[in-house]
Amino acid sequence: MNILKPEPNDYILEKALAGERISPEEALELYNTADPLKVIATAREIRNRRYDPSVVSYTMFRIVNYTNYCKVKCSFCSFHQPEESESEKVLSIEEILDKMRAAVAVGADQMFLQGGINPKIPFDYYLDVLTAVKSTLGNHIHIRAFSPGELMEMHRQTGLPLREIVRKLRQAGMDSVPGAGAEILSDRVRAVLSPSKVSVSEWVQAMETCHEENLPGSANIVIGSMEKPEEIVEHLRIVRDLQDRTGGFLAFIPWTFQRQTDRFPVRDVSAREYLKLVGICRIFFDNIPHIEASILVLGPGVGSLALLSGADDISSVVIEENVLESHGPATEAKTREFIETSGFRPVKRDLFYNYKE
Ligand code: SF4
Repeated sequence: MNILKPEPNDYILEKALAGERISPEEALELYNTADPLKVIATAREIRNRRYDPSVVSYTMFRIVNYTNYCKVKCSFCSFHQPEESESEKVLSIEEILDKMRAAVAVGADQMFLQGGINPKIPFDYYLDVLTAVKSTLGNHIHIRAFSPGELMEMHRQTGLPLREIVRKLRQAGMDSVPGAGAEILSDRVRAVLSPSKVSVSEWVQAMETCHEENLPGSANIVIGSMEKPEEIVEHLRIVRDLQDRTGGFLAFIPWTFQRQTDRFPVRDVSAREYLKLVGICRIFFDNIPHIEASILVLGPGVGSLALLSGADDISSVVIEENVLESHGPATEAKTREFIETSGFRPVKRDLFYNYKE
């Protein structure tokens, strides 16, 4: 008995299993018409050829949101505060150091330094924060910092070339760049969800400059709004083409929008659609090493299944998440327990994906 009947698009999965690159048109065909179970099984096979099938990696970092004011005001974001509101704040260097000291005390030696797009912060503040973290807490602290939107704001504010901004940040202590701010790389969707945010070409320019200046990082996609399947695949194509040029993406992380505000069109993404997307990402990205399951956004149920659908890593134990509602494990012990319960052996890694055990 063949419980999975042959389908016209099987050849795409066979091509991927043979190590051939699939085209964006073929990825779209998989998204629209393929049996999710076949996509997932193919993705899992590719993942297991590349990594120890029994291992799932994780890491621990602290998110430090240095400011909660943001002039961009994306429709889906409940984090940013209105200008001049009492709750608007910019953390002092000492407050940032205190947060990182607390994180170091529970085993984190990595930080995500991110904030809103706050034009009132002078460029020297960023350099001073980076320098202070490294000189006070040690060079081994990995600082992943500043999304393309923040970098572009520094470029606009100072009038310095983007490359010079990136070089100065790197010299001051920035180690890598987060994938934040991509959501959907479609100017049509961005015009509705976040019209003041960096455009697709600005996002690509900022990422490409970081990679060229030896600042690697990750890339995300966030689905669950008004995007069409064509736009999802176009996002994947843009990231894969950029990766062909730079090789700077260490991981790709698909996740879904959360219902944080009533100011944007959000739709529920089924587990079926999300897991199929995880599988397509593994198949499509023959040039990005890691596919992460976003436990923080999706919770352990779907997260567990994502580890069987092509993902090889769960993003992390996140200490202090202010932008999203966290559904992920809150401690390292719970993270390891989650991975074990899902049927894998947990291995701790750093932000460059070097195993630490
Ligand atoms: S998602 Fe980021 S850029 Fe958009 S409003 Fe929130 S903090 Fe600002």
